[in-house]
Amino acid sequence: MNLYEILHKKELTKEEIIFLLNLTDKSDQQKLFDRADEVRSIYCGDEVHLRGIIEFSNYCEQNCLYCGLREDNYKLTRYRMTPEEIIETAHVISNLGIYTIVLQSGEDNYYDTDLIAYIIYQIKQSTNAAITLSLGERGFDEYRTWKIAGADRYLLKHETASHKLYSVYHKKQKLEDRLSHLRFLKTNGYQIGSSNMIGLPMQTIEDISDDILLCKELDLDMAAFGPFIPSPDTPYQNKKAGDVDLTLRTMAAARIVLKKVYIPATTALATLDEAGRIKGLNAGANIVMLDLTPGHYRELYQIYTDKKCMSDNPLNYKDCFQLQIEALGRKISYSRSDSIKLTRQVTD
Ligand code: SF4
Repeated sequence: MNLYEILHKKELTKEEIIFLLNLTDKSDQQKLFDRADEVRSIYCGDEVHLRGIIEFSNYCEQNCLYCGLREDNYKLTRYRMTPEEIIETAHVISNLGIYTIVLQSGEDNYYDTDLIAYIIYQIKQSTNAAITLSLGERGFDEYRTWKIAGADRYLLKHETASHKLYSVYHKKQKLEDRLSHLRFLKTNGYQIGSSNMIGLPMQTIEDISDDILLCKELDLDMAAFGPFIPSPDTPYQNKKAGDVDLTLRTMAAARIVLKKVYIPATTALATLDEAGRIKGLNAGANIVMLDLTPGHYRELYQIYTDKKCMSDNPLNYKDCFQLQIEALGRKISYSRSDSIKLTRQVTD
């Protein structure tokens, strides 16, 4: 296969995506990253978009084999933020000039339909921020209620497009349910995001290629590709972490395939590689997710441990990133950063 031709094609086949994911020669890899960066610039512009995350509960009723928040991890100290604490933290984020607030938790039905609706409504009444919910699989009626209350976006990770692998990692859940929730959210006016993890046990390059194609089929507004990091006290605690270069190649290939989509330079990538965020932003990414959960809770949200920036003062985050982003010749967006499909006119 001819690398230059593949990098400049409008549509890529599964075999061509696999070819890109398998590139190991450093100069070929750099050509892939450069093309992804160019596609990102053409279709999405040069701004870097910030998302402020509040991880408001680390209780979870699920048992995903790779996750430190799984219900059977009895070693984890659990916490729930009060509605007042969540709303107050949202105000802190909005006052920093970050206009997307991500409300994230494990699957925790303690926060029922009305309580989540109340929190959304209060934040929307008092800020100009968009709200992304990341609460796992909840009821279709709940999604409808929260949309009416003011929610804008929903993040629901698919983790793998392989039905077989999905059923191994998630004993109680089915991939088809997750996909039907994502489709329901999209048709009900949510901007939707999903993601996979690179380097999960038993995953093949072919599986990762399917993940990218699934993101395309779902017509995602945000697609995240982060490396797997083994978490203590989980069945996968002794497995190998995902490969940083393969993660970057996945992000770059996804940018070329998906074009008008937000792709984050993930915290997991920055955790495995000190320069991971910058590398990600140079390989097609255009979002940075800032964990702005109050510090005493933040250290307990242990999907995995040793999270990058875990001990930093969150209020310094923005200044720190601003310098890094300006050094790349790019600038931070201070808008709500709604779906690029809705806000930019560039066509193929
Ligand atoms: S990945 Fe999500 S649903 Fe699964 S155990 Fe972790 S927090 Fe719960």
